[in-house]
Amino acid sequence: MSASLERGIAAFKEQIDAPVAAFFSSCVHCGMCSEACLFFTETGDPTLTPIYKLEPLRRIWKQEYTFWGRSARAFGLSKPVTDEELSKWETLVYDTCTLCGRCSMVCPVGNDITYMIRKMREGMAAAGHAPEGLISATKRAVTIGSPMGVKLPALQAQIRHMEEEIGLKIPVDVEGAEYMCLLSSMEIMNFPEYMGAMAKIFKQANVSWTISSEAFEATNSGIQIGVSEIAAELVQRIVDAAEKLKVKAVISPECGHAYMAIRWEGPNLVGKPFDFKVVHILEVLDELRKQGRLKTTGKETQRLTYHDPCQIARRGGVVEQPRNLLNMVADDFVEMPDTGTMNWCCGAGGGVSSNERADDMRLKAFNRKKAQLDAVHADGLVSACSNCRIHLEEGLEEYHMDIPVLSLTETIAEHLADD
Ligand code: SF4
Ligand code: SF4
Repeated sequence: MSASLERGIAAFKEQIDAPVAAFFSSCVHCGMCSEACLFFTETGDPTLTPIYKLEPLRRIWKQEYTFWGRSARAFGLSKPVTDEELSKWETLVYDTCTLCGRCSMVCPVGNDITYMIRKMREGMAAAGHAPEGLISATKRAVTIGSPMGVKLPALQAQIRHMEEEIGLKIPVDVEGAEYMCLLSSMEIMNFPEYMGAMAKIFKQANVSWTISSEAFEATNSGIQIGVSEIAAELVQRIVDAAEKLKVKAVISPECGHAYMAIRWEGPNLVGKPFDFKVVHILEVLDELRKQGRLKTTGKETQRLTYHDPCQIARRGGVVEQPRNLLNMVADDFVEMPDTGTMNWCCGAGGGVSSNERADDMRLKAFNRKKAQLDAVHADGLVSACSNCRIHLEEGLEEYHMDIPVLSLTETIAEHLADD
């Protein structure tokens, strides 16, 4: 057995906790999880059944922790997991799973398959079977502080451009601000208007905020690749910056998995509760709306629909807020079939967008989003995740659909009433 396989098997064993054991032993092989997964529905490939993606982990559980599995292994009736097998499984675990959580919602016995895929990735990464693109992104996140390699001078340049455009200051390193706002590299480089939108909205609502020069990146490649130590290190950088600036709350940006990483996983990863709150930008905006501090004028007349990012809606519970906000600025807001907690993933989450090998597959899976959009004849598609946004734009182009993709925060900012 190679040293990397040995490391991987040890990591798999370590990942098998009571929930994983309970989930494997309670699976009734009904196959319902397959119909919930866009990679299965759009390909019909039975190997893309969510629970099947976990087969090597299931075999290790059986061989190590069950009487019959141990006996079968002792008599040579059960094959050990090999490097070749893990290599084959790499595409099932990384390229065709966005950690969207939809399969976990439908399992009749309550198996959290997504939780198990996260565990499986820990073993795969330890065994050296993670995709090249994701490995490089993770290395950049650790060494540079951004999976896309965005350094502080690049952020400062984008801030300067945006300040000139909007005529407002974008605060950096302001000690004692109420909120510290995180950004994703994609926002910084592709959608800097998001920073401008926050500046305009927070000025109108009289909210004190800042960006940290030491920890501005929200995304967490450690979670996507499946290396908890790296995930914890990336969270700790944010915690250190928030404590240094003495902010009351950290705002997770228009990024799906960043919210899951910092809000729901963060304290567990660093092993202690935060001294500050973590809120999603849509939660902040909706709270300002409730307090009468978010004032808009005019409405979009085109038919708009909303794509719920999986980690914000299904895994994060932010479902009502975007609808409240959209109804402030849209005359004709229409829901796609299967929205909210049962929305279909865009196809690019969970590290899939960092993995070039998965490009064809994610575009194939986009056919599911196309069907949702075809059902409502929308003129515009609004979302609240820059990763979704990039992939939605690419998918729409691939399927020759002329529908603009809009940021919800930016759309709100465009309708701000004059003071
Ligand atoms: S988490 Fe989403 S993409 Fe992954 S297996 Fe489940 S349904 Fe499919
Ligand atoms: S839906 Fe649940 S019980 Fe059915 S096959 Fe999938 S994991 Fe097993």
